[in-house]
Amino acid sequence: MEDSVFTKIIKREISSEIVYEDEDTIAFLDIAPANPGHTLVVPKKPARNVFDIDEENWTDLYRTVRRVAPAVRDAAGAAGVNIIMNNEAAAGQEVFHAHVHIIPRFAKDGLTPWPKKEYGEGEKAAVAEKIRAALAS
Ligand code: 5GP
Repeated sequence: MEDSVFTKIIKREISSEIVYEDEDTIAFLDIAPANPGHTLVVPKKPARNVFDIDEENWTDLYRTVRRVAPAVRDAAGAAGVNIIMNNEAAAGQEVFHAHVHIIPRFAKDGLTPWPKKEYGEGEKAAVAEKIRAALAS
């Protein structure tokens, strides 16, 4: 399989602003930030996204997210952060090497959240039942 752009960053084949690294994970600035300080946390062991990452790799990834998030908030002078993971193209994933976005947020910074929709009649119970069934299978 061809290396992803993030594997190339891990291998230092392309440059990036690395802000944290340990044996299992790396964190660097997103090249096209939603706000200054927007950081990506990436597991070194390749996985496509949430659907194939193993539990240990996932735990390592989110341990680093938890460690880096307050530093991003403080360095950016932000009031909070969004922690977002896009999984598959339909969800906005463009780089198919698992990664978590830490996005500094400021009051009224213009980044709009996703819309809040309403369930139709019976829809909520039906989808909840399908999720419970999928978990049980
Ligand atoms: P996704 O949409 O897959 O969740 O996010 C991929 C992110 O990777 C995007 O926000 C994009 O700006 C960032 N990105 C893509 N190529 C590069 C690169 O070469 N260097 C860095 N630092 N970020 C990149």
